[in-house]
Amino acid sequence: MERVLAGSPASPGIVVGPVHLLRWEVPEVRHTLVADSEIEGEVARFRDAVRRAHERLAQVGERVAATAGPEEAAIFDVQRSMLEDAELRNAVEALVRQNLAAEKAFDVVMLEWRQHFARHAQPMVRERVGDLTDVHIRVLTLLMDLPDHDPVDLPKGAGAILVTHDLTPSLTVQLDRDAIAAIATDAGTRTSHVAILARSLGLPAVVGLRDATTQLRSGDTVVLDGTSGQLVLKPTQAEVQAYRRRAQQEAVEEAELLRLATEDAVTVDGERITLRANVDLPEEAEAAAQSGADGVGLMRTEFLVVGRATMPDEEEQYRAYARVVEAFGGRPVVIRTFDIGGDKLPVGGFPSEPNPFLGWRAIRMCLDQPELFKVQLRALLRAALHGDVRIMLPLVVSVDEVRAARVLLHEASVELAARGVPHAPTLVLGVMVETPAAAVGADTLAGEVSFLSVGTNDLVQYTLAVDRGNANLASRYTPLHPAVLRLIRRTVEVGAQSGVDVSVCGEMASQTLMAFALVGLGVRTLSVSPRSVPLVKRLMRAISAAIAREAAEAAMTAPTAVAAEQQLRQRLYAAVGDAAYLHAGLPG
Ligand code: PEP
Ligand code: MG
Repeated sequence: MERVLAGSPASPGIVVGPVHLLRWEVPEVRHTLVADSEIEGEVARFRDAVRRAHERLAQVGERVAATAGPEEAAIFDVQRSMLEDAELRNAVEALVRQNLAAEKAFDVVMLEWRQHFARHAQPMVRERVGDLTDVHIRVLTLLMDLPDHDPVDLPKGAGAILVTHDLTPSLTVQLDRDAIAAIATDAGTRTSHVAILARSLGLPAVVGLRDATTQLRSGDTVVLDGTSGQLVLKPTQAEVQAYRRRAQQEAVEEAELLRLATEDAVTVDGERITLRANVDLPEEAEAAAQSGADGVGLMRTEFLVVGRATMPDEEEQYRAYARVVEAFGGRPVVIRTFDIGGDKLPVGGFPSEPNPFLGWRAIRMCLDQPELFKVQLRALLRAALHGDVRIMLPLVVSVDEVRAARVLLHEASVELAARGVPHAPTLVLGVMVETPAAAVGADTLAGEVSFLSVGTNDLVQYTLAVDRGNANLASRYTPLHPAVLRLIRRTVEVGAQSGVDVSVCGEMASQTLMAFALVGLGVRTLSVSPRSVPLVKRLMRAISAAIAREAAEAAMTAPTAVAAEQQLRQRLYAAVGDAAYLHAGLPG
């Protein structure tokens, strides 16, 4: 067995602690028949498992209500009502009466129901597939007497390292942050939803470990290093000490960097760079405002939805947006409308699509559900009374989408006026450039919007046709590929010609070498994770925009991503002479 497991660094920090292995997947069920004489016993066994699952869900719901809130806990009521469904229970018992063992009968019925739900014409029904899956796993675990792996079942202060295949939304809401100190997953990459969420929660994380769940056992001691992306199994005393020293060193460096908070991000040749923060959860806003960020360049509103059974209403959204706007006291706050879909799903998920990243997500879903979208637009118009709110539409590929959104924004304003609710009459509107279509067609978009913000996480995925969440493709996910650099350059040029602001809010901006490249491509506004604000600021204050331009020119004409990286690395090293800048950048 390997002692060092290498994955992708997803959220910085070093933790030494016991593994808590969480397997939340439908177990395989053998086809077992029972004799006539055993049928009543099987029916009783099934009813008992349902009763225990019911009790368990009530307990989990109570705990989640106390820690995360009643909205987050509502999914467990939904799951309990599924267990109470007479049709479902009768179908299982009918199969048992045809001599199928209880677990097989339940398995067969649940598979049928999940398929039926997934294909249902009503989106509300399709959204419940994930809940059915949770119920499927929970009852089978009881019927088959498998170890119960509820993530909330850890003692407080356990300091455990949660190791799981992937962190689904329903698992996420159950995370007890007093018990879990770090996260490690088989799946995912630094730009996938679990990594973004871990950074927001400030939990060190390593993702894309591929087979950590088969290599590790609960109780094993490991060191998780979220900065290098490694997991060290059964560390020696000397190793533990070395890691603890590194953790202290990182804390000292971070404190030093924070002293830059009040300084400007100006290059040595006088180019002013606007540095904004990415905020994923409203609770992060106050801390992000202390980082020295000049406003928010991306607030990912879908994290208000992920892990919830129902969409947040206008009032709740208004409060969330107003909190962020107030924390930034008048500085610009760019709020992105719901980017649900892909790997960011509410509990229950949306219909399982063959290609979710090419599917019904983001602006597409919002425009197809105008009533849902207008709730958000109304909340944003109201929050704008508290400061400088700008809205940004995700995954736009065509100007029609911008026009349709603008019509809905107007309707939202009319609706608020009719209700007599105070609100801003309209809002500054921008779009994300996340697809080759948006970058190549940026000139058509620029005519209709106030700003363009390049979402490199998706732009890289769609340009290179590399799934951003697929750990097997991590080495092929190369943001410095010259084709990506050229699309960013094209967007910057369109911005300059049309007088429209261009910023970058994807992960590239948070990584020093890539931030250097972005400045070289002409980008003057970067939005980065709050922890990266001082790090990127220090870099900006050390480089010259002219040298960055030369480096970016060379990178854009390089034949490969590796060659482009070399070009950038050499010039950055020659300019700043400090190897610390040459790391791709501390994650998060
Ligand atoms: C992006 O695609 O770069 C982006 C910032 O959006 P998200 O990571 O939320 O898809
Ligand atoms: Mg995106």
